Amino acid sequence: MSRTPTPRTLADWQARAAELSFESRAFIDDTFLAAESGDTFESRNPATGELLAQVASCDEPDAARAVAVARRAFADGAWSRLAPGKRKKTLLRLAELMEANKHELALIDTLDMGKPISSSLGDMNGAIACIRYQAECIDKLYGEVAPTGEETLALVLREPIGVVAAIVPWNFPLMMTAWKVAPALAAGNSVILKPSEKSPLSALRLAQLAREAGIPRGVFQVLPGFGHTVGKALALSMEVDCLAFTGSTAVGKQLMQYAGQSNLKRVYLECGGKSPNLVFADCKDLDLVASHAAAAIFHNQGEVCIAGSRLLVENTIRDDFVERVLKAAENMQPGDPLDPDSFMGAIVDEAQHRRILDYIRQGVQEGARLRTGGKAIDGPGLFIPPTVFDGVTPQMTIGREEIFGPVLAVFGFDTEEEAVAMANDTPYGLAAGLWSQDIDRIMRVTRRLQSGQVFVNNWAGGDQTMPFGGVKQSGNGRDKSHHSLEEYSELKSVWMSLQPS
Ligand code: NAD
Repeated sequence: MSRTPTPRTLADWQARAAELSFESRAFIDDTFLAAESGDTFESRNPATGELLAQVASCDEPDAARAVAVARRAFADGAWSRLAPGKRKKTLLRLAELMEANKHELALIDTLDMGKPISSSLGDMNGAIACIRYQAECIDKLYGEVAPTGEETLALVLREPIGVVAAIVPWNFPLMMTAWKVAPALAAGNSVILKPSEKSPLSALRLAQLAREAGIPRGVFQVLPGFGHTVGKALALSMEVDCLAFTGSTAVGKQLMQYAGQSNLKRVYLECGGKSPNLVFADCKDLDLVASHAAAAIFHNQGEVCIAGSRLLVENTIRDDFVERVLKAAENMQPGDPLDPDSFMGAIVDEAQHRRILDYIRQGVQEGARLRTGGKAIDGPGLFIPPTVFDGVTPQMTIGREEIFGPVLAVFGFDTEEEAVAMANDTPYGLAAGLWSQDIDRIMRVTRRLQSGQVFVNNWAGGDQTMPFGGVKQSGNGRDKSHHSLEEYSELKSVWMSLQPS
């Protein structure tokens, strides 16, 4: 499929999908193979219900084998002790191969978890950019010489940690993978990737490309399977040195316990959110702000960790602003994920579909005003339209819990103080947005928002140069930028006396 013309229409993408075949076995020790138990699980296209593949369901024995292989690869030094410039070359080759197979990779994610193809293509650009950035960083990161007396040479060296297990979610399957795998590999670690059981297929295609790029045997392995089986086995392993996790806060808490029960491995967590988006009455172009506010929640069907799921609007403009949001949402209806014009696609699976509809029911029961959406769309696929609730209060379930679906909760506020207090009244702290023309207010409010990232007069801005992560129960790690590279290395202090002393 590589280097074929760019698909442009629904028919082009459908034709590509028809000729696609999937690797569905685990990738251990440079070999694709079935799980030791022979067990498999189904991967289905949520837009059609079609069975895509029976995927190897790895468990504890597969984890133990992969960990032993990873340790051996780390010890033999073919990657861990390779000069950074050479690791860079291999990772850049991987990025090139991904670029050449970008349409196929995007198609796999769209078929596997239902996101629109336009969004998957954006994810591929993000994943490739991340691999390139981390590859380019690795031979520019210096150690230190400490300022000691001249009878001593004191060095601070950076070394890879060892075996890193990366456990990732399904909402941006390959991009979340790249955010973990790129810096961990660049730093010289052996990496075992456990993709989500809801979207395992692009990780296995990545394994094929990693082998082709020349990443040495055992340095990158992929174990598809469930969290409570193979994920837990990796997290409890005495031979895994670091867990790099993106997923829910509940599972993040479990992983910290597993680390405590085993070997105190490092645990980096990127968890959930209930992000506030604050709109002040001084904004000039309310239509533009409203369309951004709608996209902030409806992009990727609302299955986004930084979804702007709480819209806080100054009461003097609230009624008018909500009308504008409703108008913008009309143009964001779900459609065939393979149609390049679809803004939203299908919900990832039946469990998530049910969960979102349960939250919507609860919103109505608790007295929020349903302004649009709220019902599943008929059909074989799992589709929910943009749903907007107005008159939400901080006590309501839909105003507090992460829904992870296309459901917007609108709150009103009278003062800046009240807006900030409401924004921070959450256990999460992943993202926050602020729309205003008043620079004094922007400076004040930005500082006071308890959030890993604040978007001012935009939503979800950022590139590879900026760290991405949360505070409070949204996690403790940072993806992207050179800060993430530092997370995957240890500092070693070397105190050298020039004469024995
Ligand atoms: P999840 O926590 O259910 O699963 C995430 C991963 O953890 C999956 O691979 C799963 O198999 C694995 N897992 C589950 N139980 C496990 C266990 N006991 N031991 C080891 N591994 C286990 O999350 P999800 O439903 O896949 O993804 C949605 C969540 O991810 C949302 O909360 C969302 O906010 C969050 N997320 C956060 C970010 C971020 O950067 N902060 C980005 C994307 C998604």
